[in-house]
Amino acid sequence: MDDCLADRLAAVRERIEKACAKAHRDPAGVRLLAVTKVFPADVVREAYAMGLREFGENYVQEMERKAPVLADLEGARFHLIGHLQSNKTKKAAQMFASIDSIDAAKLATRLDAEGLPLDAMIEVKLSEEESKSGAAEDEIAAIVDTIRACRNLTLRGLMTVPPWSEDAELARPYFARLREIAGRFAIPELSMGMSNDLEVAIEEGATWVRVGTALFGRRKRV
Ligand SMILES: *Cc1c(COP(=O)(O)O)cnc(C)c1O
Repeated sequence: MDDCLADRLAAVRERIEKACAKAHRDPAGVRLLAVTKVFPADVVREAYAMGLREFGENYVQEMERKAPVLADLEGARFHLIGHLQSNKTKKAAQMFASIDSIDAAKLATRLDAEGLPLDAMIEVKLSEEESKSGAAEDEIAAIVDTIRACRNLTLRGLMTVPPWSEDAELARPYFARLREIAGRFAIPELSMGMSNDLEVAIEEGATWVRVGTALFGRRKRV
């Protein structure tokens, strides 16, 4: 198992470096968010031992189970990348360093009211898929204004999940669009690109890639 994760991590880092070389970008400008949802706390610990510090989790409830047993991992930072319900803002603010999935101004206001410093990203929905969460493009300006007026939230970036496809090239227009929107609001970070399309995302300006499967293997359905 150890070797396995070490090998996978090396392979992911190599993919990131190659994509950066192709795009004439500094690899230091692309950060790896290790997506550990559905995997047990031991897997987070193992990834931490290999030097990973930034982790993505999708569910507040799952994090409530993991957080107590991972409290000793100094410097580990957890990002919430799944949809956040407004009745869970207190727990989310306590357990996460960054909420990457803010999709409404009201949600930002509630998070701010919890009184804890948090990094923030706005999740943008760029496709028509019913199942996807995220703010519509025409709602972004209001959410940006709200977060920037918050005392405890720091707006770091935009996040998006394009429609899934075998063909990573099909995600390119969504990534390019997210970069354009971020530019319009002078938002520095772009969280885009996952296991199957991180190269395309890096070419389009990703500053975070969120990688689960390519590091930890396939997830069992929950
Ligand atoms: C699960 C998930 C990922 C990781 O996806 P992989 O294809 O396993 O790399 C990234 N971002 C979000 C929002 C996710 O829910």
